[in-house]
Amino acid sequence: ELHLPNRIRHSALARPSDPVITCGDRTLTCADLDAETNALASALVGVFAARVGALLRMGLEGAEAFIACAKAGAVFIPLNWRLNPRELVDIALDAELDVLIVDDEFAAGAAAIAAALPEVAVITVGDEGGVTDSRTWAEFGASGTGIDPGLGHDPDTAVLQLYTSGTTGRPKGVVATHRNLYNEPVGFEVYEFGSNAVALDALPLFHIAGAGWMSTCLSAGVPMVLLGDMAPARVAEAIATHHVTHAFLVPAVIQTLVDLPTLEGFDLSSLEVVAYGASPITPALLAHAMNVLNCKFVQRYGMTETTGSVSVLRAYDHHVSGPRSGLLRSAGKPMIGVEISIRDVMTGEELPPNESGEIVARSRNNTRGYWRRERESAELFTHDGFLRTGDAGHLDDEGYLFVTDRLKDMIITGGENVYPIEVESILAEHPSVAEVAVVGVPDKRWGESVTAVIKLVDGADVPSVDELIAFSAARLASYKKPRQIHFVDSLPRNASGKLLKSSLRTTLSASGE
Ligand code: AMP
Ligand code: MG
Repeated sequence: ELHLPNRIRHSALARPSDPVITCGDRTLTCADLDAETNALASALVGVFAARVGALLRMGLEGAEAFIACAKAGAVFIPLNWRLNPRELVDIALDAELDVLIVDDEFAAGAAAIAAALPEVAVITVGDEGGVTDSRTWAEFGASGTGIDPGLGHDPDTAVLQLYTSGTTGRPKGVVATHRNLYNEPVGFEVYEFGSNAVALDALPLFHIAGAGWMSTCLSAGVPMVLLGDMAPARVAEAIATHHVTHAFLVPAVIQTLVDLPTLEGFDLSSLEVVAYGASPITPALLAHAMNVLNCKFVQRYGMTETTGSVSVLRAYDHHVSGPRSGLLRSAGKPMIGVEISIRDVMTGEELPPNESGEIVARSRNNTRGYWRRERESAELFTHDGFLRTGDAGHLDDEGYLFVTDRLKDMIITGGENVYPIEVESILAEHPSVAEVAVVGVPDKRWGESVTAVIKLVDGADVPSVDELIAFSAARLASYKKPRQIHFVDSLPRNASGKLLKSSLRTTLSASGE
């Protein structure tokens, strides 16, 4: 089987002393990575840990934890450390964690989880001992037998569970199996990895882009440089220092990277391919980035529920000028093994080329569903087994996919998803707020910015914008708080009272926000 533990073992046998992961000043060889993950996997089996949460940045321990879970037959559940403790506790309860691996930096979140779930065994990474009653990573690894629990896992075993909030505002765990993760390595020829390839992963582990890119590169035998954040200067420095050839970057990071005033001080000539996706990119930014970074670009369109790519815009389809430059607006052609169809939003019927509807996709990288959410899992699929992406678009005559709108109520800001319903329900708790709508408004830096439109309670004290933003920030992860607030006398609704968000978006975008 192609699964990750086999690939790690294969690399350890084939090239034991070659470097495979570099993070900060530490480098692991293929043999080290295999041995260390055997130790951790055997320790996980020893404590019967089936569900392993993590509050870790992208880095060495995150990679080891992911691989150890895959070896142990456990599910790796990386949590979004940008969430506030209350949000983290909700997810930890839903996920039914047995173990939580946490970096000292995120001790507050871990303490909240430990208080709500006293049975969870906490393991700390780092040596500041920020979490009480915990064991360290090294102690935990040493407690195992070091014997690999085996490589023969059923491909339909779950290995990864990533959380999305969804349009109901309740966190849902998207389950990915070994088989779901296969498709990316199967399609790795799109990245044109050469024998000198070095891949950079600075994306969060808790996003499919971060975990999936790691799994793709390690499965392709490509050594990786891991970074705990996406600060553009750090990204540029890592590329220059480690002669990175392949980087996965999200549009918001590409934007800050190409505008970095000190960019010229870094030698980025090793870059061969920038893979990008996770949110829309404008053709203008794409053309600018292709010019500045002077390498090939490969776009991926997909979602957590499809365990990565649905479609790929290949390097050879990126033309900044000429008759085919319109393809810069396209998300490319279906990934190998993926069928894409466009469905009428009202009737569900398949639509011909050039007609716009919901994008649906069928492949073996589709999730089987959400953890313990039968109804929502069933609703995710069409009657013929295609996964509803909640995105709108069309296929052209040549089969290129264009993602043109979002049917689901979701904002993507700086690469993070924000579900308006979560922000709306918080703002609605404020005593002066009568009605509220939250929408995404186009923003050069962040892609979209979270914007609230509020109708105040008649005669109530008029709160300041800052007060309402602070009110949100106290109750939500910071990236979800509104950046702008507008007060209105009434919110646009249709005859049946349904809020017309698209009309709000149009008005706000037109007013130059
Ligand atoms: P997530 O599950 O967080 O990865 O979010 C998936 C959503 O991000 C998709 O349903 C799209 O709305 C958006 N998305 C991902 N990749 C692209 C892309 N290449 N172009 C436009 N939107 C994208
Ligand atoms: Mg995303």
